[in-house]
Amino acid sequence: MIDITKIRGEFPILSQKINGNNLVYFDNGATTQKPTSVIESIKGYYTNENSNVHRGAHFLSSLATEKLESTRRAVHKLINSKHVYEIIFTKGTTDSINLVANSFQKFLSKGDEVLISELEHHSNIVPWQLCCEKTGANLKVIPVLPNGELNLKKISSLLTKKTKIVAISHISNTLGTINPIKKIISQCHSVGAKVLIDGAQAASHLALDVQEINADFYCFSAHKMYGPTGLGVLYGKEKLLNKMPPYQGGGEMISDVSFSKTKYAELPYKFEAGTPNIGGIIAFKAAIEFICKVGLNNICLHEKALLKYATSEILKIKNVKIYGTSNEKSAIISFNINGLHPYDIGLLLDKMGIAIRTGHHCTQPIMDKFEIPGTARLSLAVYNTKQEIDVFILSLKKVIKMLS
Ligand code: PMP
Repeated sequence: MIDITKIRGEFPILSQKINGNNLVYFDNGATTQKPTSVIESIKGYYTNENSNVHRGAHFLSSLATEKLESTRRAVHKLINSKHVYEIIFTKGTTDSINLVANSFQKFLSKGDEVLISELEHHSNIVPWQLCCEKTGANLKVIPVLPNGELNLKKISSLLTKKTKIVAISHISNTLGTINPIKKIISQCHSVGAKVLIDGAQAASHLALDVQEINADFYCFSAHKMYGPTGLGVLYGKEKLLNKMPPYQGGGEMISDVSFSKTKYAELPYKFEAGTPNIGGIIAFKAAIEFICKVGLNNICLHEKALLKYATSEILKIKNVKIYGTSNEKSAIISFNINGLHPYDIGLLLDKMGIAIRTGHHCTQPIMDKFEIPGTARLSLAVYNTKQEIDVFILSLKKVIKMLS
């Protein structure tokens, strides 16, 4: 069991008042708050360690390089990649997906197929549309059932010998659906397709073993894992990454440059052009340590209990509809109240100190599917409590009264 008071004490922002009320932060799907250890690490880097990495032969450069590589090793351990050099630092999930959607074009020809799903974030749709435009490949889409689960029966008929890559989310940021990715990956592999998993909503909520699920690529963002913004990870299998051309050219990603021929650096540096977010990467290690200290299984249990409680309390409210009711669900609740606009609900809750997200959550196709412009969304994290859900429910009832 987790010590919630101790955990909350590690997040200074949570003791803030917003509009005169205690902050209730339920927008963790957008970004999580940062513990003191992460904040101190960023401060410590710029105060004592600031230097560029991999280049200088001086003390500070060696220190920054060693600390950056130590985060890479921590990520490798967290997700159990086979090799440390299969961990590539990017700007975020979006950047990781764009990297693959560009470099993987080498394996795509006109008439090939790229398969995604209806519940993807725009970050896992648009890069593939651009990729298909450039290569002449066709984009196909796995439909979603009314409860928010992927229609698994349709996958086998959508997969063909022409399917070269399948890109799906581990957890839907709008509906909370946890997709059975291990099963899907194995199905896709049976036709020879490679699989990219968008793990943006999963990496700080579920224990992950990329070798066990046999993902070819797995992407996530540090800022949704109690770490800094502007930083993400792309895991890729060595064999594939070695065959793929670099995404961007520049410093750091070469071993030798001349005007006649440039040789690229070994993994992972081939995919890390330019100066990275050094301070952010170093601080990300503190975020990973926080997650490991609490334990992903404990985090998962705590959030599951909150999800169950919040769902039952929300369902007691008249005229409410929850979107996404799959059996396997993460602590994300999207809802609407008949006759009320989600934006108005969000605005009034904010006046009461409660932060939720409203809108289409960068998943317009799934909104179209449900024929709604948007939802109000709660997304919970390890520091959220049952008491906060009670405050939320009371406030929501007040909002409904004000708007009715
Ligand atoms: N995929 C999913 C499922 C997400 O929830 C998000 C962020 N909301 C992204 C991709 C994009 O992440 P980032 O903005 O950190 O690149």
